[in-house]
Amino acid sequence: MTRAYNFSAGPATLPETVLRQAQAEMLDWNGVGASIVELSHRGAEFMGVAAQAEADLRKLLSVPDDYAVLFLAGGATTQQALLALNFAAPGQVVDYIVTGHWGKTAIKQVKPYVDVHVAADGEPGGFHDIPSRAGWTLSPGAAYVHITANETIHGVEFRDTPDVGDVPLFADFSSSIASEPLDVSKYGLIYAGAQKNLGPVGISVLLVRRELLERAGQPRADIFNYASHAARDSMLNTPPTWNWYLLGLVVKWMLDEGGVEEFARRNAAKAELVYGAIDGSGGFYRNQVVPAVRSRMNIPFFLPDEALTSRFVSESKAAGLLALKGHKAVGGLRASLYNAVPVAGAQALVDFMRDFQQRNG
Ligand code: PMP
Repeated sequence: MTRAYNFSAGPATLPETVLRQAQAEMLDWNGVGASIVELSHRGAEFMGVAAQAEADLRKLLSVPDDYAVLFLAGGATTQQALLALNFAAPGQVVDYIVTGHWGKTAIKQVKPYVDVHVAADGEPGGFHDIPSRAGWTLSPGAAYVHITANETIHGVEFRDTPDVGDVPLFADFSSSIASEPLDVSKYGLIYAGAQKNLGPVGISVLLVRRELLERAGQPRADIFNYASHAARDSMLNTPPTWNWYLLGLVVKWMLDEGGVEEFARRNAAKAELVYGAIDGSGGFYRNQVVPAVRSRMNIPFFLPDEALTSRFVSESKAAGLLALKGHKAVGGLRASLYNAVPVAGAQALVDFMRDFQQRNG
């Protein structure tokens, strides 16, 4: 059996080591005579797995002690809605910086609950750049400022954490968490769906400064209350145990490989290869994002026409390079280069791109 290089934007490729370990432990986890997915979340076995995953994630991301780490069922979109319910009073103003598709989604989720102010919007520029900080119109008294650290579809990434003063900065790190060192203390809250860099879909991770959990927020059911989840170590109800277990294996793998510094190095090398192939193609391949904010995780790129694009998609798939079709919102092609994509995968893609150009350019 050969595993293809998988450039899917998410659910995405997982480290082979992790999949093999999960396979080996599937029928009998640690000699208990049952799979971890068959055991109670309140039993000593799973509680151990859960605690280890949290400890390892705290280590991987250098999470300060005054931050709670939550493991929550569901995806990033659910967290986007819960931000308003937990941290803003009804009708209070919240500031959003829109740098692509997911920033717009984040706004859609909170609109029913708060007064959304778009403090900066990259859409008039086609989301090819991040509006400069000097032009942001932040609101005094905002409950928080929200950014999308990496836009998975438009391929735009914040390279530095913006300074937004005393208002807490909230960030969607779904597609770039653990891709490089991160100063968590600069954020009030960080959230991420796991299905890109952290593991399987079905679980999200939230890092939140504990003092923010004291905010009254809005009337909501207890299950939508982050403070309740924090008070019960993310076991307010039955958590997605299988996903949590797999996430733990992925985090452990990242630590074993050298942590976020090592992944930053590999991710820079992969991105340099692919952008190099695009920029060196004499216009055959195009990526219009301003180089200073180009995403290292998701690289959208375009060919001169539709016919070439579909030929690229089918031929690359046949060559063992999976999931290079672009998102339908923008079309074209997209290579997602998450932590589990090896440098050799990016090299194989670049070799294919050059060969394809020679045959079709
Ligand atoms: N934010 C970002 C940056 C994403 O890439 C995605 C999914 N691709 C989402 C939010 C939505 O995540 P989910 O599907 O887990 O709700």
